[in-house]
Amino acid sequence: MISDRMKKLAAGNSAIRAMFEEGKRLAGIYGAENVYDFSLGNPNFPAPKQINETIKALLDEKESTYLHGYMSNAGFEEARELVAASLNRRFGTAFGVNNILMTVGAAGGLNVALCTLLDPGDEGLTVSPYFVEYGNYVSNFSAKLIAVPADEKTFQPDADKLAAAVTAKTKAVILNNPNNPTGVVYSEETIKKLAAALEAKQKELGTSIYIISDEPYRELVYDGAVVPYITKYYRNTIVAYSWSKSLSLPGERIGYLVLPDEMDDAELVISAASISNRILGFVNAPSLMQLAAARCIDCSVDIEAYDNNRKLLYNGLRELGFECAKPEGAFYLWVRSPEPDEKKFVEKAKAHNILFVQGSSFACPGYVRLAYCVSEATIKNSMPAFAALAREYGLG
Ligand code: PLP
Repeated sequence: MISDRMKKLAAGNSAIRAMFEEGKRLAGIYGAENVYDFSLGNPNFPAPKQINETIKALLDEKESTYLHGYMSNAGFEEARELVAASLNRRFGTAFGVNNILMTVGAAGGLNVALCTLLDPGDEGLTVSPYFVEYGNYVSNFSAKLIAVPADEKTFQPDADKLAAAVTAKTKAVILNNPNNPTGVVYSEETIKKLAAALEAKQKELGTSIYIISDEPYRELVYDGAVVPYITKYYRNTIVAYSWSKSLSLPGERIGYLVLPDEMDDAELVISAASISNRILGFVNAPSLMQLAAARCIDCSVDIEAYDNNRKLLYNGLRELGFECAKPEGAFYLWVRSPEPDEKKFVEKAKAHNILFVQGSSFACPGYVRLAYCVSEATIKNSMPAFAALAREYGLG
C-alpha cells in the first residue's frame, strides 16, 4: 500500500493538471482550435535558436566522457563561472564559482535549499497566492508551510503581516518574483520593507531566517518593470533560478542556486547544499544542459511576443468588464471571479471551452489564473467566448 502522505496527495491531485487533461478531452471533441486553454504555464514559444546551435557545438567540441559524465555535485565549474560572471555584470554583485550550484530546474533548486535548511517541525513562510507546489516541497522535509496573504489591492507582500507570522521555528521565507499566479512584480520598496522586517525579527529572536527567492520568471518583465536582486537588500538570501521559462526549456530541467558568502553559516550552507543536490533522487543537474544554458545566458525567448499576448488578454478582458490585476511579469493574468465561488466561474467558462485555474489552487479563492503562454491566435479566437461568458454575468 502507498504511504499515508501519498494517499493524501493522490486524492488532491493538482487541479492545474486536471484542467490540462480536460483541455485535451475537449480538444478531442471540438477540435484544438476551438478550445481556449489557459491552464498550464507550459511555454508555447520556441527556445532561441542559439540553444540548438550551442548543443551541436558542444557535442562536437567536448570529450564524451566529460560532457556526459558525472562532475562535482555543484556542477561544471565552467558553467558556474559563466553564471557568476553574468550575474556580476548585470546586478553588480561579486559572486564566484563557489556561490553557484547548478540544479534540476527551480523545483530542484528549491528542494535543495529547503533540504539544506529545514528540520522536521520547522516553518517556512510564503505569501499567498503562491505556487501550490511550495506546500509539497516544504512537507518533503516534514516542515510546515505557512502562507501570509498579500495586500488585497496590489498583491505585493505585506512586510508587517509577514513579520507577525515569524516564529522561532521560521527558517525560510519563499518569495516568488515575478509572481505566479498574479503576474505582479514585487517592487524595490516592498523588498526593502521585507528585508528590514526580517532583519528585525532575526535580531529579536536570535535566529537566521533565509529568504529563498524563486525567480524562474526574472527575465519575463514588461513596461520596464525592474525585479530587485534580493541578495543586495538582505544578507540571508538564496536565489533559485531556472531557464525553464526564460529559454523555454522546462523539460530539460536546468537552473541554479545562488548561495552568497554573506549569508549566515555560508560555508556550511554551501557544502550542505551540494550534498542535498546528490541525495534527493537526482545527482547533479543534467550535464549537457548546464553547459548549453550557461553559454546562452544572455539569450532569451521572444519577450515581445509574451508582451503582445499580455496586452491582448488584459485589455480584451478589461473591455469586457472583468477585473484583472495589472500583470507586469511572468505570463499569468490574475482575474477576480465575478461570483464569490470561483469554482463555479471556472465551470461556466468551461461550458464556453475556456479553461483556466481556480484561485483556491493558489490558496486564494475568489480569483482565477490565466496562463497566456499560448499562441496569439488562441487569445484572439477566445474573445467571442469570453464575451459570451461576460454576458452571462451581465458585465460590461
Ligand atoms: N516556481 C514557480 C513559481 C513556478 O511557476 C515553477 C514552474 O512553473 C517552478 C518554480 C518550477 O520551475 P522548474 O520547471 O524550473 O522546476
